[in-house]
Order: sequence, then structure tokens, then C-alpha cells
Amino acid sequence: MNAPATARDVRPAAGIDEIDSVDALAAWPLIRKLVGFPTVSRDSNLALLDWVRDYLAQYGVESAYTWNDERTKANLWATLPARDGNTTKDGIVLSGHTDVVPVDGQPWQTDPFEAVVRGDKIYGRGVTDMKSFSATGLAFVPEFLRRGLKRPLHFALSYDEEVGCIGVRRLIADIVAKGIRPMGCIIGEPTGMRLVLAHKGKRSWRGRVRGFEAHSSLTPRGVNAVQIACEIVAYIGKRAREFRDQGPRDEAYDVPFTTAHVGVIHGGTAVNIVPRDCYFDFEMRHLPDDDPEAFARDVESFARRYIDGMHAVSPDTHIEFDLLSTLPGMDTPDGSEIASLAHACNGIAAVGKVSFGTEASLFHGVDIATVICGPGHIEQAHQPNEWVAIGQLARCEAFMRRLADRVCSS
Ligand SMILES: [Zn+2]
Repeated sequence: MNAPATARDVRPAAGIDEIDSVDALAAWPLIRKLVGFPTVSRDSNLALLDWVRDYLAQYGVESAYTWNDERTKANLWATLPARDGNTTKDGIVLSGHTDVVPVDGQPWQTDPFEAVVRGDKIYGRGVTDMKSFSATGLAFVPEFLRRGLKRPLHFALSYDEEVGCIGVRRLIADIVAKGIRPMGCIIGEPTGMRLVLAHKGKRSWRGRVRGFEAHSSLTPRGVNAVQIACEIVAYIGKRAREFRDQGPRDEAYDVPFTTAHVGVIHGGTAVNIVPRDCYFDFEMRHLPDDDPEAFARDVESFARRYIDGMHAVSPDTHIEFDLLSTLPGMDTPDGSEIASLAHACNGIAAVGKVSFGTEASLFHGVDIATVICGPGHIEQAHQPNEWVAIGQLARCEAFMRRLADRVCSS
């Protein structure tokens, strides 16, 4: 067990542009601590969670875990009660995922699991996506408690976000079952501290083609799974161009139309064998007006045109599709209470829409109005030498300070 660090006093409100050194950041010790846990999605996040649980416990705040089936990973839910004792109604959720993407094969120039300061940037896996936001919120716990809260403040730290927002689904089911009804949720995914009120939905599938093996000198006696798969892959590319050129547009998004692509293809074993198997994984990131079901049906119906020819060679051939993941879109009204609160906290008038999916849509799905606002930029996420600018962290601290001004009674 790691001894909880003593949180620094949060800095008095000052010009955030004056902050150019980590020593001026209240959250720096916590950022360093959280980045030090190598919480790659395939591995356990329990060491990080236990550390946060102990950190919160020293302020008298209890944590509850919701576990994965193997009890190797968990979500943490913790509530700072309002002064009147309310822990369930009308609170604000600060939400972040604890897992990070792998570093395997990436050319890192520093130890990815150590937060390293170079100039005006901090390097490390997860500094942008997205441990710094969680660390900053946690750094303000003593401040929130000292000033007393008018409404509960919740921390939601999830597992397995990077592999399909898996963990948070259990956490959300748990808080719904317990009758906890927050007013809204702020997710600190990297947006450059801009307020994001909408993101696209995402769905992904695997197509599996089973052909029939033959010696490559006898191709008409085989069914070439790779070539049939490539016809379907090409069709997905054609549909993607149609979404771009003829589909609905919303210029508020960074990519203003629905996109589709194939990210993985595997097939065949040798050049002199007609390949029996090929599979390909594809996804769609859709605007609200484009229907992923209709897209999937269309791709399947295109694939069916090959079936008769395949069966003429062998009845054991087939083409099948599996749904891999579903993440609905999210669209929170600009005039909603949580959007107004977050606006007041980030001090930036503009709002945005983004193409990457987040856990926001899952909170949104159970009527917890959700916005996204966090330090750093998505361009630096998942990269080797992931970094976040110290100025972004200063903005995040300013956000928390303004949040305290609004949710605290003194
Ligand atoms: Zn993330």
C-alpha cells in the first residue's frame, strides 16, 4: 500500500497564464502519482484505485468499488456529501477513466510511466488521456470539504474505457440501482479545456469470410476468402465516400460527416494456397442522422451477392458479421444546467462537438446530462511521448477553482 500524499494547498485565484511551472500546480503531486501506476487496459487498475481510496479516506471520504467478473479491475465511486448531509440528489459527477492505452512498440524518449517535466510540458502515458483531470479534481477535495458543499460532488473513476467503455457501464448501473440522481456529469477527456456538448456515436463489427482451400494452380476449385473480403472492404470504402459527399453534415464537428473505415484485415496462409479464411474489422462513427443499423444491413446485403457462387463450390462456405461494440452518440443542450455550470467554470464561450466517443453517452443514456471538458488535446492521446502543456493544467485548476466557487457554500 502506498501512503497517500499530502495534497498541496490549492493556489489562490490568480492569472492562469502566470503558471508556467509544475511547482505552481496543486495537482502536480497527484498527477505524478497516478501516471506512475501502469494501468494499461489489459492490466489491473487496483493499485491506482487503492491509492485513491486511501487518499480520500484521509479526508473521511469513503469509496465504493464495482468489480469486473474476475475481480482484477474495478470502478471507484466516491461522494463528498453536501453540508446538509445529501449524498444522492442533484450532485455533480467528475468522471475519468483510469486505464491507458499500451506503449508497446512506441518510440518513447522517457519512461512512459513516470511524469517527466521538459520545458513547459509534462510527458507520460495518460498525462492527457486522462489522468491529469482526475488528479486535479482529487487535489481539490480538501478545498471542497473545507468550504462546504451546497450539493454532493461525486468522483467516478472507471476501468476499460479504452477498450469500449466497458467498466463504466457497471458503475452507472450501480448508481442507478442505488437511487443516486446526479444533476450532471463532467468528463475530463482532452478537449483543450473547451466545452464539448456532443460527440458522434460509434459502432464496430467483424466480417468473417469462410472460403474453400485449394492448390493455387486450381483456383476455380477453391473459394478465395481474401478476395471476397476485399470486395466487401472496397464497398465499405465506397459507402464512406458517399457519407462524405452526400450524407448529412454538421460543421460543428471536427470531421463534419459520418465516417466508416476498415482498421484490421487478416487472411490467408501462403501465396500458393487459395485462402480459406479472412476477417476484417470495421467501424462507423456516425452523426445522429445516420443510422448504423441501416449501414450494417447494407454491407450484409452487399456481401450476400457472393454467397451463391461460394456455395456452388462448397456448401461449407459462408460470410458472417459480428457486432463488436456499440457506443451511442451524445448531445447535451447548450442551455442545460450542467452546460451553463461548465461554461461558467471554463471561461471559454465557444462550445464544440467531437468525433471521438466517450463515456459521456452512457451517462447521457440514463438521463445524467453530461459535458466533456478536460486538459490537453486528443491529438496527443495514444501517441508515443504523450504530453500535456502545463498551461492546460493551469486552466484545469482554474476550472476546479471556479467550480468550488459555485458548488461550495463559502
Ligand atoms: Zn480517454
